[in-house]
Amino acid sequence: ALPVVAIVGRPNVGKSTLFNRIINQRLAIVEDLPGVTRDRNYAPAEWMGHKFDLIDTGGITWEDGKIEEEIRAQAEIAIDEADVIVFLTSVDNHVTDLDERIAKLLYRTKKPVILAVNKADNPEQRQDIYDFYSLGFGDPIPISGSHGTGIGDLLDEINAHL
Ligand code: GDP
Ligand code: MG
Repeated sequence: ALPVVAIVGRPNVGKSTLFNRIINQRLAIVEDLPGVTRDRNYAPAEWMGHKFDLIDTGGITWEDGKIEEEIRAQAEIAIDEADVIVFLTSVDNHVTDLDERIAKLLYRTKKPVILAVNKADNPEQRQDIYDFYSLGFGDPIPISGSHGTGIGDLLDEINAHL
């Protein structure tokens, strides 16, 4: 079986956009509103000759719309099934309460957790990531899932742990 990489993060940070970008297709449903049917969340991916399976954990079960349940389920799936966890946040909201709660869930694992800060679409935003050190996962990697910037750096970091 291929190593598994899971993307975890609160709703709307851009998990599905990043997933689609990495797998180079549009299988995950990107949406602005919660509660939209999410039907595809698992796909093979490859970077520099390293193959892995990528999971968009935000696509997995969430019927009653409880964010608390959603993030707990995401973290459990990542901790149980992934070899490498990508913890995705977003620069536009700085560090939120939900980011901190996800961080606490992820402290329980000894698996590698890579912190990426999405929506860093321009140079000013790429400089604006220092708050995210407080989450306790080391250097945050600024990325833009929609522009494609920083994705190579993130994939290099993933490969370093595969
Ligand atoms: P998810 O809920 O974490 O899966 O987030 P989505 O991938 O569905 O994205 C939520 C919203 O953020 C959508 O409107 C996306 O177009 C937008 N978005 C995703 N990535 C970026 C990015 O890098 N920059 C900006 N500005 N918007 C983004
Ligand atoms: Mg999504």
